Amino acid sequence: VKAQGLHSYRFFTASMNERTRALRRIETALRQALPRHELSLYYQPKVDAESGRIVGAEALLRWHANGRELYEPDQFIPVAEDTGLILPIGAWVLRQACKQAQLWQLRGRAIAVSVNVSPLQFQHADFYSWLDDVLNETGLDANLLELELTERMVMSGGDATTGLLQRIKRRGVRLSLDDFGTGYCSLSYLKHFPIDALKIDRVFVRDLISDRDTATITSSIIAMARSLNKLVIAEGVETREQGAFLRHAGCSQLQGFLYGAPMPAAEFQQQLLSTD
Ligand code: C2E
Ligand code: CA
Ligand code: CA
Ligand code: CA
Repeated sequence: VKAQGLHSYRFFTASMNERTRALRRIETALRQALPRHELSLYYQPKVDAESGRIVGAEALLRWHANGRELYEPDQFIPVAEDTGLILPIGAWVLRQACKQAQLWQLRGRAIAVSVNVSPLQFQHADFYSWLDDVLNETGLDANLLELELTERMVMSGGDATTGLLQRIKRRGVRLSLDDFGTGYCSLSYLKHFPIDALKIDRVFVRDLISDRDTATITSSIIAMARSLNKLVIAEGVETREQGAFLRHAGCSQLQGFLYGAPMPAAEFQQQLLSTD
């Protein structure tokens, strides 16, 4: 027993060191990523549940070097958050996404762009002025920008957070709660926050068809959200059955591989402009 304990202890420390080294590698490379132009935004269509028309796009960060993906967002975004690198990166994402949506608007297809905001960015004292500056500089209609926040960010901050959310709303920017249902936000709490939309997390969508409890929970989240006058968006929609279920349950927008994977800006624009 003793030997085994010692062995697993050694194993544990070795894997911790390995993990720390891997994170360091990501951090070192990530410091260079912006100046080296290795970061880009992909766009994934959000479609109207009734008409199937593209009504928005979520901007999703990608990191490529020499024509191939270096790390996935789930690997490097936590590192960016831990090291504070998410601040310059997040500012770049916001500006880039707004410029892009402004271009679509100029080409006659005014659709909303959704940007993921990280907790560190949102907590920063200058967040509102960055946002305001970007809107003023790019000239994008504020109501064509949607910020995706998580439950935790909205719930944890008290009065200061509510005040910031209200300021953002007054500026005309839309707010949605990402990954809804995975955190600890109760629906009744939601009416206190100036949130326009909820995004039902992918885990619900994934099990909708195979699991009756998931289907019941999802339907009631959608019904209650609607009774609070919130729009509901479903993410991770991969099959026609899931799409049909969610449309009947009252989702107003759908997003997922069924309607289009995240794609480079040029490809997205081509698809957008070739449809009405
Ligand atoms: P998220 O905000 O929940 O984004 C949705 C993720 O689901 C994306 O992963 C997207 O590619 C993926 N997805 C979309 N449709 C489907 C589908 O039908 N099936 C499945 N299985 N997956 C689908 P991605 O792009 O790897 O991003 C992962 C996470 O990284 C995002 O989760 C978001 O939390 C974060 N992220 C991405 N870009 C940014 C960014 O610019 N800033 C910040 N702060 N976070 C970002
Ligand atoms: Ca998101
Ligand atoms: Ca999500
Ligand atoms: Ca997520």
